[in-house]
Amino acid sequence: MTRKVRVGNTYIGGGAPVSVQTMLDAPSYDVEGNVAQAIAVEEAGCDILRVAVPDEAALAALEAVKKAVSVPVVADIHFDYKLALAAIDCGADKIRINPGNIGGAERVRAVTEKCKTNGVAIRVGVNSGSLEKEVLTKYGSPTPEALCESALNAVRLLESFDFYDTVVSIKTSSVVDTVSAYRLFSAASDYPLHIGVTEAGTEKSGTVRSAVALGSLLLDGIGDTLRVSLSASPLKEVEAGIAILKACGLRDGAQVISCPTCGRTRIDVKSLAEQAEALAARCEKPIKIAVMGCVVNGPGEAREADIGITGGDGVGLVFKKGEVVEKVAESELLAALEKYIKDYENANE
Ligand code: SF4
Repeated sequence: MTRKVRVGNTYIGGGAPVSVQTMLDAPSYDVEGNVAQAIAVEEAGCDILRVAVPDEAALAALEAVKKAVSVPVVADIHFDYKLALAAIDCGADKIRINPGNIGGAERVRAVTEKCKTNGVAIRVGVNSGSLEKEVLTKYGSPTPEALCESALNAVRLLESFDFYDTVVSIKTSSVVDTVSAYRLFSAASDYPLHIGVTEAGTEKSGTVRSAVALGSLLLDGIGDTLRVSLSASPLKEVEAGIAILKACGLRDGAQVISCPTCGRTRIDVKSLAEQAEALAARCEKPIKIAVMGCVVNGPGEAREADIGITGGDGVGLVFKKGEVVEKVAESELLAALEKYIKDYENANE
């Protein structure tokens, strides 16, 4: 089990639920834009959000975001340790730094001292583009071993200042190297891990790459908090993160399964499944909902579903655990499904 680190009003590691993070992408000087986005991602289920602080002007957005949301806020700092100190004054619950680019041990010490005084955690973010020269020279390239060594060096540096509220990330844009690096670090240390693939890509390809990497790690019990980094809106990152946790059995909530359709399909499965997902998005109960394409095979194929719908040629069927419980007009299927989801939620309260 990893060490438990407090981040504002939540915890990372030590058996705490795996949290979903994202990073705001409104311009750092745009206070209103950042606040609006922060509120939207919090509503979408983001557990911890991060704000870039590239300069002093960005501190205004950080401070406003912190006041606007109840989830913990992380300040992302590169190069300038004074910004890290100022971010703590603005209420940051965690500081993300890379000790390798913050300007020397004494500056890292100054950050740790202020973090300690204010109960603020630190994430050390190691990535393949910012390895120390000595480590790169030793390994020749940013191999998983090199990344792991760099991360261990970073936590040891913080330990030398008597600082232990550290969360570690080790990211590369390679799925295979990222998984290997996290596995190495996890075997060598009990610091909690923020997992993710950096520069993962667009919404579709980045989600797939992140799901492969994060899913592999999570199913091995590695990973305490995650971010799916996408060239897409932070809302998409939150949705993808939650979906990965649900798929790994690490977060409750509705799961919509739907048949791939075939020549027997007599109903618009694609559209119905999307609408069913929208209906189920807010449901926090572990309900499995099936949308199937034909009345003959559908209920039986989705026998494990708590609730399912299928239909064709104007007729709709609602089924539970494979047994048909109601016959409705095809146009009434979604309304019937909504009612069953509500009943399920009420019955399981
Ligand atoms: S449920 Fe029916 S329509 Fe869907 S794949 Fe199976 S046989 Fe085809």
